[in-house]
Amino acid sequence: MILVSFSTAFFLYLMIPIMVIFILWLSMEYKNQTLSTKPESKDTLTCSICFQSFLYNRSENIVRCPFCQSLNDVSEIKS
Ligand SMILES: [Zn+2]
Repeated sequence: MILVSFSTAFFLYLMIPIMVIFILWLSMEYKNQTLSTKPESKDTLTCSICFQSFLYNRSENIVRCPFCQSLNDVSEIKS
């Protein structure tokens, strides 16, 4: 049997939950950091009508300009 003093047992009783919370906190921070540093799937596009630049989602082929509301074909502008 492992003999531990009362102070050691009390120290372990306090430190183990603190270490578990600390490890959980670090893992959550790491997860948040990896999520926030992912590259955005957005790119800038210049409207063919009003020549204003705006962000658009790369997965869309046709985007609406937020300034003049005209539709822009991404493949036509990017090529
Ligand atoms: Zn526009």
